[in-house]
Amino acid sequence: MDGVTKTMRQGEAGATGGASGYLAIDLAALARNYERLAAEVAPARAAAVVKADAYGLGAARVAERLHAHGCRHFFVAQFVEALRLRPLLAADATVFVLNGLQPGNELACAREGIVPVINSLEQWRQWADAARTLARRLPAVLQFDTGMSRLGVPPEERAALAELVSGDSGIDVLFVMSHLACADDADSAQNGEQSAEMARVSAQFPQFPVCFANSGGIFLGKAYHGVLARPGIALYGGAPTAGRANPMEPVVKLDVAVVQTRTVPAGTRIGYGGSHVATGPTRLATIAAGYADGLPRSLSDRGAVYCDGVRLPIVGRVSMDSITIDVSALPEGRLKLGSLVEVLGPHQTLEDVARDAGTIAYEILTGLGHRYERQYR
Ligand SMILES: *Cc1c(COP(=O)(O)O)cnc(C)c1O
Repeated sequence: MDGVTKTMRQGEAGATGGASGYLAIDLAALARNYERLAAEVAPARAAAVVKADAYGLGAARVAERLHAHGCRHFFVAQFVEALRLRPLLAADATVFVLNGLQPGNELACAREGIVPVINSLEQWRQWADAARTLARRLPAVLQFDTGMSRLGVPPEERAALAELVSGDSGIDVLFVMSHLACADDADSAQNGEQSAEMARVSAQFPQFPVCFANSGGIFLGKAYHGVLARPGIALYGGAPTAGRANPMEPVVKLDVAVVQTRTVPAGTRIGYGGSHVATGPTRLATIAAGYADGLPRSLSDRGAVYCDGVRLPIVGRVSMDSITIDVSALPEGRLKLGSLVEVLGPHQTLEDVARDAGTIAYEILTGLGHRYERQYR
């Protein structure tokens, strides 16, 4: 509990504890998801992708819990994330930086024992320079572009890299890796193409084990597993494969408090721009979360929240700090100041909210703000 929360608890807190919203993070469900994924890829191992503060859920708490369940490989995107996470983890854990190193970070990276993913010949040379400067061997992962054109050594530079790797560079390569662009679409032909390209990479660098699948890739089958898989979204309860039943357990639950209720007659304008006009007498509730809390403005007049399993549509525009909902479907008086409504939970998944917002579960999850009271379970 942080200081602000403590002060609220000691103050005039209402029945719900006084917070505007409660973000419950189920660490036991997270651990079961990890074990489910680890079993799926066994005898290969499962890493955990904890970039962007573990998709918004708290990298320190998530990594600590997964370490207790046997996870030893943790991937972040940026060096600054690795710097924060590394000291919190046991010495037998390894922290990898997917984006590799910005010039100037090499010595700090080596000093902290963080492992960079090398994405280019230039990054290889800089890491080799650092090894020479420090007069010791340094570990690295080599990433190859197999068809996403985002990060990694492109096909035309592979031979040059093989040459550098075969020399005495002072770098110990732990894995060769690549990333799938379409793994959530089990029918995409690009999966097979990238897998074939990864097989060619592996043939060119046969001495190094392969790290390949993300969440979706894990469910594409053995050919995608290598020795180490890198799931992210599936750990956090997101669906690994679009259009299929989600085999993962939900990890987050979000309940938001009502801050005001009212009844308006037909013809009343609701929200910014007056874009929504009540077609009949309507009972409304305003809840204390908005786009600054990660509920996108694109949910305006599209999304919903739930109470007692009843769908309560969002009416009018999503504001920065609040959203107005139509609660006419509930018994009168059911919602009052301080009552909670479900934004994410048994009646509405991350994927449901993402669909209504015109985005993906990843963006909803990573966007959940820091004004909710976080409850780790
Ligand atoms: C984000 C990321 C992952 C995890 O992807 P999910 O789809 O969340 O499982 C794995 N590998 C790389 C390189 C990534 O950028």
